[in-house]
Amino acid sequence: MNVAIKSSQVNNQDILNFDVLIVGAGISGINAAYHLQNFCKEKSFALLENQESFGGTWHTHKYPGIRSDSDLYTFGYNWKPWSGTPIATAGEILSYLDEGMEQNDIRKHIRFSHDVKRATWSTTDKCWTLQVSVNGSDDFQIYTCNFLWMCQGYYRHGSGYTPEFKGAENFNGPIVHPQTWPEDLDYKGKKVVVIGSGATAATLVPAMAEDCAHITMLQRSPTYFAAAPNRNDLVETLRKLDIPDEWIHEIARRQVLADQQKTTRRSFEEPEALKEELIGIAKKILGNEFDVDKHFTPKYRPWRQRLAFLPDGDLFKAIKSGEASVVTDQIDSFTETGIKLKSGETLEADIIITATGFNMSVLGDVKFNIDGTDLDFSDCWAHRGILFSGIPNMAWVFGYLRTSWTMRSDLISDFVCRLLNHMDEKDVAMVTPRLRDEDQSMPELPFVDPENFNAGYLTRDMHKMPKQGDRQPWIFSQDYYSEKEEIPAADLEDGTLIYE
Ligand SMILES: Cc1cc2nc3c(=O)[nH]c(=O)nc-3n(C[C@H](O)[C@H](O)[C@H](O)COP(=O)(O)OP(=O)(O)OC[C@H]3O[C@@H](n4cnc5c(N)ncnc54)[C@H](O)[C@@H]3O)c2cc1C
Repeated sequence: MNVAIKSSQVNNQDILNFDVLIVGAGISGINAAYHLQNFCKEKSFALLENQESFGGTWHTHKYPGIRSDSDLYTFGYNWKPWSGTPIATAGEILSYLDEGMEQNDIRKHIRFSHDVKRATWSTTDKCWTLQVSVNGSDDFQIYTCNFLWMCQGYYRHGSGYTPEFKGAENFNGPIVHPQTWPEDLDYKGKKVVVIGSGATAATLVPAMAEDCAHITMLQRSPTYFAAAPNRNDLVETLRKLDIPDEWIHEIARRQVLADQQKTTRRSFEEPEALKEELIGIAKKILGNEFDVDKHFTPKYRPWRQRLAFLPDGDLFKAIKSGEASVVTDQIDSFTETGIKLKSGETLEADIIITATGFNMSVLGDVKFNIDGTDLDFSDCWAHRGILFSGIPNMAWVFGYLRTSWTMRSDLISDFVCRLLNHMDEKDVAMVTPRLRDEDQSMPELPFVDPENFNAGYLTRDMHKMPKQGDRQPWIFSQDYYSEKEEIPAADLEDGTLIYE
């Protein structure tokens, strides 16, 4: 075992052993726990979570207006009906998760403030050994398990991504990243510039507009927004008919998925028509005098990035009211009093908010070692984007980027439970994905196809991610509609899973 810390630092009194350890207690970790509890009833497990509370993304982000941009029928679990509006605030999502944990007695399995630093696999012992910092201590606790289920998300929670802006040090006011929002930030009556054009900027601007002297969304290039009422008419009708919540949830799920499939298909088959439709809504709310061509007409194909949803068209309405505005330009530099733009114009600001995205975190920044060799994750091939070649007994929940994340977390949770039960039936304690002879010459393709989805955080760090191939089970299509058939039917004896 290649242990990096000094033995004197390890508190052997605290060694704890489980069948399965789940890293992370966000939406995916709680879903994994629910599945283990129900479909692998004999397995002991715990969730190790480095924050002091559950919810992951919905605990980390505390900026004004923070909300989902997916509907909660698909972003919620298939085992717990959603009864609020389709788009939900972080607070509502946390209450939903809390209630789901309460109803299923999951909370007792979570160890909060447990930061997993290192994971070491031993084939001799068929066991993972985890070095875990508890409450920030360097005196690591040692946890062991047979199977490691990584539910740590995809980005670094501690800090967001801020590009280097020339002259940033000269700016007199606060520069804030939404991921680390200061609780005491006072923006009442202030001039605020939000840099960015994604879902976060689109949430912040209408949420803050009323209180600010003025708020400006400064974007390099436009994004597609889907503006619609935060209401599902079918759900309203079913509720009036006194249909049980479970049924409504499942019907709404299917309806949303069918609608999204249609939109995705149209984005490939008739992108111009779809583009016109989306832009038409912006034009209708913003009026003829507003320059929609300049500010809300993107150059890329609709759906190549997650389509940001505007509940009740709130961003457009804030701009229409005059409380907010949008500027499409490039930043030259920050000045003492604002931002100088490449066009020569300047934007005055008391506060600058950089809604500029995330930093990818590869496997939760945990250092992996397999039988004495440090793991370079980019050497691995993704096995259906769930398991990874050469890494025994480890699964990672990387959800959908276009469809709700949770739809893939559900499929993976079922798959992992099926795999664990299959291993028990075979009476083996180890499974490792390996390329077959016929897979050896596969082309090395990026983990997520940039033609299909090109978000900045992915593009910046794709080289650190595993690769995919050109045939199953080495394909990670990011397509719910094919995976919903393929993953449940996946052959666990296809020669790519080696059991020992
Ligand atoms: C503002 C925002 C809005 C979003 N809205 C949507 C949406 O509407 N729809 C959608 O589908 N997706 C959305 N996403 C993507 C979102 O991250 C996922 O959908 C989902 O919440 C991820 O859940 P998760 O449990 O997999 O990971 P996370 O929510 O990232 O939770 C992972 C947890 O693991 C912990 N962790 C990480 N590393 C370690 C470690 N080494 N040791 C211990 N614990 C660790 C983290 O602190 C965190 O608490 C959004 C993302 C953001 C940032």
